[in-house]
Amino acid sequence: MSDAFITREVIESESDGPLDGQRVALKDNISTEGVPTTCGSAMLEGYVPPYDATVVERLTESGATIVGKTNMDEFGMGTTTETSHFGPTTNPVDEERVPGGSSGGSAAAVAAGEADLALGSDTGGSVRCPAAFCGVVGIKPTYGLVSRYGLVAYANSLEQIGPLAPTVEEAAELLDVIAGPDERDATTREARSVVRDGETVSSSREAQSASRTTSDGRAGDARETGADTNYASAADGDIEETTIGVLTSLVDGADERVASVFEARIADLESRGAEVREVELASLDHAVQAYYVIAMSEASSNLARFDGVRYGLSGGFDGDWNDAFARAREAGFGPEVKRRILLGTYALSAGYHDKYYKKAQDARAWIKQDFDRALDEADVLASPTMPVLPPKLGESLDDPLQHYLMDANTVPVNLADLPAISVPAGTADGLPVGAQFIGPAFGERAVIRAASALE
Ligand code: GLN
Repeated sequence: MSDAFITREVIESESDGPLDGQRVALKDNISTEGVPTTCGSAMLEGYVPPYDATVVERLTESGATIVGKTNMDEFGMGTTTETSHFGPTTNPVDEERVPGGSSGGSAAAVAAGEADLALGSDTGGSVRCPAAFCGVVGIKPTYGLVSRYGLVAYANSLEQIGPLAPTVEEAAELLDVIAGPDERDATTREARSVVRDGETVSSSREAQSASRTTSDGRAGDARETGADTNYASAADGDIEETTIGVLTSLVDGADERVASVFEARIADLESRGAEVREVELASLDHAVQAYYVIAMSEASSNLARFDGVRYGLSGGFDGDWNDAFARAREAGFGPEVKRRILLGTYALSAGYHDKYYKKAQDARAWIKQDFDRALDEADVLASPTMPVLPPKLGESLDDPLQHYLMDANTVPVNLADLPAISVPAGTADGLPVGAQFIGPAFGERAVIRAASALE
């Protein structure tokens, strides 16, 4: 039995549906009533939620059988699944290597055939990275498409729950089940898209301005409509007349072996009728820095609830609450979580807020704007999912900065609230390489279609 799971416990389906007979694994930060949910942390060892996350209800109502809770970087903080309190998960493709993270257990469970499908969460790449490293498919949905109710928060303005599966179509089928508004998560909303001159052109954000004027300034017959939200049917392999914008800086920054696998597959799509363009987005150079300031700031606030009183292991009590909180947090959190709480608290503190947090928010706005412009000219954008091949266990932990830089290609998407997919593109030195497609907000069908063509 592999090390992909923290808890193996079966939750039976409650009715028949599209996922009949499918075994689904859940990342251990997704709340399951009556089944431990640890977030890979000593802090929550033994914690049993009193309710199900919305995605769990949707799964069991769709015929799925949940087979257990998977290993992850502690509270989602990592890119290799090595920061888990329960020890690392190994990559089923090569046991000496990491499966990626933070949803490494979910990707490994699917890659090893121990689950048919899995859910992870993606704050800055945690579904796409392990999908790429383990040779499976992973989708990071548009912010607001999937309910986060019952997902233990790490950086709530960035994260979405997303599917992992062996194929694009299966990942899309799972997305079909979990997507859609939820009255218990006010950030969810109906998928919207713009139809201009009878053709779907773009996403919700653009919809508001496009319904007033078209991009060339004339009052057009553009209107906002409900987007087509049948995701599985988009996996039709059709790439003809799709414009793919290749994010050149993310290709240039990648390991040569990764870049050449990626480039060969894009050339293949071009020969099958796609139009390929190069896209240069200056803002992307600042994405990793902005991401880590925002993610750590939000984490420092979200993790304040783990004080041994409201949540988490008890610090005991001998007369001083501050000491009791400190003892609980000292014992319950691992080194990476502590580092991020300290840095996040610092970035938000008086005197530094404008210097770090506000600047990071400005960079986030710039990145969003850059993506919106690029997606006016292209149907999807593309890059290698990860700039590197899966590292060996222990290789990347010593240097946090190097570790964070591995997220260069995935974090921009979370900062811009956009949908993206990672699809296996081939291998280099026998190790999986993933290609990433990015679409406009609520343009899941576009990225699913492009990925199904590359598959
Ligand atoms: N590696 C990134 C981080 O550590 C992303 C993690 C995630 O998406 N949960 O923050």
